Amino acid sequence: MNMSHGQDLNRRDFIKISSLFLAGSAAMSTQIGRTLSGNGDALADDGRERVVHSFCEHCFWRCGIAAHVRDGKIYKITGSEHHPLSNGRLCPRGTGGIGQIYDPDRLAHPLIREKKGGKASYRKASWDEAITYTAEKLYKIKEAYGPQAIAMLHHGFGYTFFKEMFKAFGVNKFAKPSYDFCCGPSHQAFLFTYGHEIGTPEGIDIINSKYILFFGTHYGENMHNTAVQEIAEGIRRGLKIVVFDPRFSTLAGKAEKWLPIKPGTDIAMMQALMNVLITENLYDKQFVAENTVGFDELRAEVERMTPEKAAEITDIPAEDIREIARNFARYAPAAAVHPGRRTQWYADGAQRSRAIAILNALAGNYKMPGGMVKYEKYKIPKGAPHHYPEYEKEVWSKYPLFTDIKPENTMGSHEVIQQAIDGELKALFVYGVNVPETITMGRKTALKALGNVDFLAVVDTLPMEVTGYADIVLPECTYLERYDELDGGRPYRTPFVALRQPVVEPMFDSKPGNQIARMLADKLGVHALEDDVETYLDKKLKRAGSSLEEVRKTGVLLGKPTDLYRKTGEKLTFETPSGKIEIASSKFRDAGFDAVPRYTKHPDAPEGFYRVLTGRKPMLTFGRTANNRFLNELPTARENEIWVNPQVAAKHQLSHGEQVHLKNQAGVVSEFPIKVKVTERIRQDAVYMVHGYGHYFKKLKWAYGKGASHNQLISNYDIDTSTGAVGFENNFVTFIKEA
Ligand code: SF4
Repeated sequence: MNMSHGQDLNRRDFIKISSLFLAGSAAMSTQIGRTLSGNGDALADDGRERVVHSFCEHCFWRCGIAAHVRDGKIYKITGSEHHPLSNGRLCPRGTGGIGQIYDPDRLAHPLIREKKGGKASYRKASWDEAITYTAEKLYKIKEAYGPQAIAMLHHGFGYTFFKEMFKAFGVNKFAKPSYDFCCGPSHQAFLFTYGHEIGTPEGIDIINSKYILFFGTHYGENMHNTAVQEIAEGIRRGLKIVVFDPRFSTLAGKAEKWLPIKPGTDIAMMQALMNVLITENLYDKQFVAENTVGFDELRAEVERMTPEKAAEITDIPAEDIREIARNFARYAPAAAVHPGRRTQWYADGAQRSRAIAILNALAGNYKMPGGMVKYEKYKIPKGAPHHYPEYEKEVWSKYPLFTDIKPENTMGSHEVIQQAIDGELKALFVYGVNVPETITMGRKTALKALGNVDFLAVVDTLPMEVTGYADIVLPECTYLERYDELDGGRPYRTPFVALRQPVVEPMFDSKPGNQIARMLADKLGVHALEDDVETYLDKKLKRAGSSLEEVRKTGVLLGKPTDLYRKTGEKLTFETPSGKIEIASSKFRDAGFDAVPRYTKHPDAPEGFYRVLTGRKPMLTFGRTANNRFLNELPTARENEIWVNPQVAAKHQLSHGEQVHLKNQAGVVSEFPIKVKVTERIRQDAVYMVHGYGHYFKKLKWAYGKGASHNQLISNYDIDTSTGAVGFENNFVTFIKEA
């Protein structure tokens, strides 16, 4: 395989980072070495053991952690008993945080790209030089092209200080990939239907439910800690679950019924369930009459989708569809359809999520035990407002239903990529996003964008692929070595504010994001972050009725439990345009889209090819944990496999355990081979692989060349023109046997 990694020739080539600039080498000359190797007593303090409470950064769930420190070294991470999202327990990734902080491949110094004799390489820079260099580049680009020529792509919780810095600088283009391909459509769909988002954790009263339908949600594999605990508790209390999934997932293994639905047909199935609920008069008529608008429009739309018609589309027998709809109605209101998490698969993710929202409304389960609930947030009174310069636009996305609440992000990440390709963007600031392997427009498109900007700055902890294209690499310390913004904006059963705090001092020449952003703000001459981070957090916690000193003890501040359920006779109100649950959405209609969800067919696989379905493993969160040597000790964590139905394996003469390359419909061949897993657990028209493997940067010692990269195999993507989310499941592969 050539070294272009799928990149077309452009002005920014991929360069390797010398081992001299990574932690392993830096440690050789310091006492930190013994800590990295896992057997030292370096950084010894007073010899006593201490426990620091903070929160995990290995996925967006942000569970509370208790980091156990002995002789100045973190030797164990357990679940915080104080934090409502962990309840004393973590998933494998959460406990594996030690593998991140003590990773010998960590970035140890700021690096600047330079060209000598026509050859590009990195050289070590001081922080002052790196910050000055970055600030000068950003300043010049803003002067020459305006602030709209700069954008930040971000992932993870530490971006907030950079965002404040950019806003004070007049830049207002922010995007996170997880909106595009994960939860964005679901949040928007529930917002437009109920007037509030479904939340993280999703507002389903799992523990008290009797019957929950899941469409492709991979709990137990994607490890949303609290939800997994709640499902286990729910099942213990008698919860029955039904799983629609082309693959027999871990969750399907817990289900009363697994329905191997044809990929891309969920909306047809949801319409058929609605059809049965309506034609058999099983929906909650009083709830619908009092609290919803648009029921007649829905009835007219789903009339045609009889179970028999849906059976032809979905491959699920009509009698199963009827039975499930009837059971759903029988258990309602203690029944729900779970919204799932990664909800953008094709170009209709928002309408698919709207169909889920509507099924819940037909069950009349809103604010009922076992149904859909509205969690509350811990309310922190606002501080003095910032006075940012006027932005040219508050929201940059061109998609009408991208968001209509105060945006955390102002455009889709695919829009950032497209603007870079089109030459509209000149500078890209990347915080924690491994662009070539994360942007779901595929690696080739992502690399084209990286190659087209005049300036690329990357903040990361590890030499992820994106760092090899950067003009400047700013090494952040890990989440175990820094403060971040308070986690206080999320609604939950018990509202909370959580503190991320340093467990140990930053190692090597890395710095916390809050300091890097502060140094950049100072150099740019803007005043975004007026206080040092401890003063800032203390002031905010005092507004919340506590203090930094107090919250440091347990890492969390708890509010009064949410009053979850409806009172008898309570009149419900919804913050939608009509004040009701909008079964027919006025927002969708006004923006020129279907007011009620409609099924559209997605293309089938070409002959000899199979639709690529993706998911997760409980010990991998993509870039964050790919190189984690401790998690890598688990044999099933080391590489991904391609799941192949036995009949497909026979047709292509594949055997279990064999290594193959994958080739997609556009002729792209996976850079590394992948192991075949022959299993009845997958339909014949699809294959399945875990995303996040096949890393091509050799400096990632534990991740390099392990399995195949899913992102490399994305050549086709579909944009939902309502919300601007990106679907990528219209990609198909076949197999190339090793010679
Ligand atoms: S679910 Fe696992 S990875 Fe995610 S925050 Fe919790 S412990 Fe960390």
